Amino acid sequence: MSNETIRIAIQKSGRLTEKTLQILKQSGLEFNLSNNVLFSQCEAFPVELMLVRDDDIPEYVADGICELGFVGFNVLQEKILKKGQSPDNIPILKHLGYGNCRLSLAISKEEEYTGLNYFNGKKIATSYPKSLGEYFAKNDINAEIIEISGSVEVTPKLKIADAICDIVSSGATLKGNNLKEVDKILDSESILVKTPKELKPEQEQTIDRLLARLEGVMKSQRNKYIMMNADKDSLARIKEILPGVDEPSVMPLAGDDGRVAVHLVCEENVFWETMENLKSVGASSILVLPIEKFIS
Ligand code: ATP
Ligand code: ZN
Repeated sequence: MSNETIRIAIQKSGRLTEKTLQILKQSGLEFNLSNNVLFSQCEAFPVELMLVRDDDIPEYVADGICELGFVGFNVLQEKILKKGQSPDNIPILKHLGYGNCRLSLAISKEEEYTGLNYFNGKKIATSYPKSLGEYFAKNDINAEIIEISGSVEVTPKLKIADAICDIVSSGATLKGNNLKEVDKILDSESILVKTPKELKPEQEQTIDRLLARLEGVMKSQRNKYIMMNADKDSLARIKEILPGVDEPSVMPLAGDDGRVAVHLVCEENVFWETMENLKSVGASSILVLPIEKFIS
């Protein structure tokens, strides 16, 4: 590997894989992932991808085998607690806004939930024993935590546990297993983590370049480019309707002295209601366009 090359750990196959590969591609990395490759050297950017199980990513990054890693915050938190490390040991460079989920406690739908005290003396199955243990300790709950590596949601039915603590996003899996979510212990999303080991200055530069590109991708996904025609004197009202816009570009319209073309970048979601409000202050021919790339 050259001085500037960094190795990035990503999940080989799972819920984070597609979005992680997508954000890297949008950042200009080109790679070829055929079946069963564990490593892929990127073209046009000094990065080698390493495809692994998500549970192993915090350790690879902590040990400096990989300089960066894309992983769920829930997995990072559990590993840090398991190792008894300080969170500073694996610094978080970026929250990535996908892979959103929560670690929650759930009980049978038929049970009446009486607050956290409900869990005193109960058996709880989870793949996150450290995160749950810490939460219970903080809240003075005395429960038996049973560590299960998969399909935690079937354990109440099998009478292995009274309740579960698991990752929830839509809640459909809980519902399908006759369970209800009663308490959230952690919010999670995909994050980018960095090794605590000292890197070469060239590697730090590669990381800075990648971070700027990731920021650009995330910003362009949030932002929209809006074009419309409007009366010259309606600009103030247009800016009120579109929060978070920079100064718009205003251009004359050929053959119409009173009206102008207005172009602007909007950081907020643009809904049909927003467009109707623009129309009601005299805007017409309103176009909302996605932004492909963005560097500020
Ligand atoms: P691996 O084989 O890599 O160990 P896994 O089965 O442990 O995979 P996945 O189910 O692919 O993991 O989930 C990866 C991450 O996706 C989770 O740790 C979590 O951060 C995130 N995630 C988002 N929504 C969900 C969900 N509904 N269920 C589970 N994980 C989710
Ligand atoms: Zn896993």
